[in-house]
Amino acid sequence: MRRLTHAEATRLRRTPGATVALFLTDRCPVGCAHCSVDSLPGGPTIRDWDLFTRLVDALAELPGLQAVAITGGEPFAERRGLTYAVRRLHAAGTAVLVFTSGFWARSAVPAWVRGVLELTGTVYLSTDAFHAAALDGGRAAAGVGPGGEAEGDTAARAARAVVAAGCHLVVQTLAGPEGAPPPLPHPAAEHSLVPPLPAGRGARLFPRRPPRRPLGAFAPCALLHAPTVRYDGLVTACCNETVLTGGGPAALRRRVSDAAGLREALRAFRADPVLRLMGAAGPVGLSTVVEGRYGSVCEPCWLAQRRAARDPEALASLRRLATLGTPAARP
Ligand code: SF4
Ligand code: SF4
Repeated sequence: MRRLTHAEATRLRRTPGATVALFLTDRCPVGCAHCSVDSLPGGPTIRDWDLFTRLVDALAELPGLQAVAITGGEPFAERRGLTYAVRRLHAAGTAVLVFTSGFWARSAVPAWVRGVLELTGTVYLSTDAFHAAALDGGRAAAGVGPGGEAEGDTAARAARAVVAAGCHLVVQTLAGPEGAPPPLPHPAAEHSLVPPLPAGRGARLFPRRPPRRPLGAFAPCALLHAPTVRYDGLVTACCNETVLTGGGPAALRRRVSDAAGLREALRAFRADPVLRLMGAAGPVGLSTVVEGRYGSVCEPCWLAQRRAARDPEALASLRRLATLGTPAARP
């Protein structure tokens, strides 16, 4: 079982071909008000078991793949799929990271959950105020008590089970206006602060009116080396929630049904000139086909994809640039 720290996981996520996100289910019993993927208790989940197992087997056999991050929805709401994926990937020697709310620790932790944790290297446990409100009626994490461990809430029970199973624990909280992280629910936990995402239900809570900036003000896209495979065969070029849930240009999504299809989808994303330029130079690499000022790094990426899809000359120009490399992309 390979345990990854947050820094190690971040480094792998930025290494081409090293990681994939497995979006295991749209279902989640928690119902946070800020959910960026709109997950609900009755949300869709795995229906075609043979397809799902083919996808997991394909990931287990993918050359160069070092780690799979299992997300959703709530992975533990899809018991059969999570158990299969964790066992299969663990047997293949792939590091497994699981993102969870810890809802399964509302009362005594079930034995099957402990079995999954024992094969998992790293657990990201979300413990912000929205999760606490949905799980514990607004009670915040108890923090570390005099005995060294927190008692009495879902996050603390989940954290104890994760650490007892031998996983590395990363507690993920939302960056708030006050900026100060809440107390960690376990002394062994590492802390990671994440920005609020204006996607799904979060779009209503965190409306974004970012300043519009020139192309050169944005860094290369950091999410490009974490393509996402959904339980139903949808594969996206990056782990952007909006793209996964149907937003943005079609070029960022493909449908696959087996290992050959998955390898081909990942190869096509790696060869896509817009994505190559976005990864090497950022939006400034697209300046032969898009211009102006933008509120996010994704806007010029989507515009360039749409332009390339309808204009063969623009596509040819992007291909030339991607082959040559842009000044910003050269060492
Ligand atoms: S944020 Fe996570 S725990 Fe909350 S509803 Fe969405 S998937 Fe469930
Ligand atoms: S810039 Fe493009 S590749 Fe990067 S996250 Fe946005 S849509 Fe995905």
